[in-house]
Amino acid sequence: MADLRPGISGLSTDDLTAWFAARGEPAFRARQVLTALWQSAAPSAAALTTLPRALAAELDGAFRWSTVEDVTIVASDGGQTEKALHRLADGATVESVLMHYPATAARKARHTLCISSQAGCAVGCPFCATGELGFTRDLETAEILDQVRSANRRLNAGERITNVVFMGMGEPLLNLDRVLEAVAALNDAGRLGLGARHITVSTSGVVPGIRRLTALGPQFTLAISIHAARDALRDVLVPLNRRWPVAEVIAAARDHARATGRRVSYEVTMIGGVNDTDADADALANLLRGDLAHVNLIPMNPVAHTPWRASPMPVIERFAVRIKAAGIPVTIRRNRGVEIGAACGQLAAERAGAPAAPAVARRRQRLELASARALRGQRSEEPVPAGVDA
Ligand code: SAH
Ligand code: SF4
Repeated sequence: MADLRPGISGLSTDDLTAWFAARGEPAFRARQVLTALWQSAAPSAAALTTLPRALAAELDGAFRWSTVEDVTIVASDGGQTEKALHRLADGATVESVLMHYPATAARKARHTLCISSQAGCAVGCPFCATGELGFTRDLETAEILDQVRSANRRLNAGERITNVVFMGMGEPLLNLDRVLEAVAALNDAGRLGLGARHITVSTSGVVPGIRRLTALGPQFTLAISIHAARDALRDVLVPLNRRWPVAEVIAAARDHARATGRRVSYEVTMIGGVNDTDADADALANLLRGDLAHVNLIPMNPVAHTPWRASPMPVIERFAVRIKAAGIPVTIRRNRGVEIGAACGQLAAERAGAPAAPAVARRRQRLELASARALRGQRSEEPVPAGVDA
């Protein structure tokens, strides 16, 4: 049976202080526990020598010290990238990716973690392994934060997570309350103490969510997974576009940039022969001209269920030149970085088992037809995916 105790990391400092106060304990107890949670490898409250035994037992009885169990950790890039598969209490699995960037003359070493906000995703972008899984459920705040604690524990002494990106599994703006609680905890000096600039939330374009963030003021960097500037094609690549089309997404992102004074990142997963033409580059450039924007071009990571592959590098470079010519800063992300996070979902998808070959073949064929139609400028007639109401 699933462990129903709430995850302790999901409690705010005030909640934890109140829990101790109800037991006649002073406020410093909450600080002690938070420090242990975020800065030690202690596996439970019972392991803390600073807590009276009975109190530690009561705390362990009431809360789970961690809500994620690390099933596998796979290293690549000579140990510079680590993907972790985490199992949650109900058996759902999610993934996080830890990327190490060594120090250079210009900047200190960075340890960037890409985390998941949902198990699966309802949006169903056809180039995304998570999209293939469908939606399982929203993550709890503790389940989001415990991915970060798990990675922090795996770092060497003296190192800490320096950047967190919500680019793993799931659509963060469709689990926004939990994501905002997690961001507040990451920000909190008593917990991870990460500056807002070092946290990035990526969305496929949930317009009401973007507007809600704008009303809250600057919280973190906003990344928009735009992928295509033309509705017909974006309908296919990001099915949410049938509900919130390109113009609405850009208007919301532009208002966010203006209101917060913070540059918005636009992500384009570059898919060979699909969204990488000169016309696509020019459409995107025209859309963003004059905006506080930065474009990231990311070669698509291959996914078993789609016929698509990454655009060749010269094509990506040509695309970048056209964006740049419009005065918009652009970066090509090569093998490492956000693009590794973009491959999130891969491990979990492998575990879920590949669908039967005929089903895959049919899906690939449908995609090819849909993208061909889109390239001719015809908008999709398929319905908006279920479960994406914000
Ligand atoms: N749901 C949110 C955040 C998670 S996806 C969003 O879509 O923005 C994080 C990023 O990974 C997105 O920009 C997404 O488009 C990208 N991505 C997904 N599958 C990919 C693939 N196969 N190759 C490259 N990028 C991919
Ligand atoms: Fe969901 Fe993002 Fe994957 Fe699209 S790219 S299916 S929104 S996780």
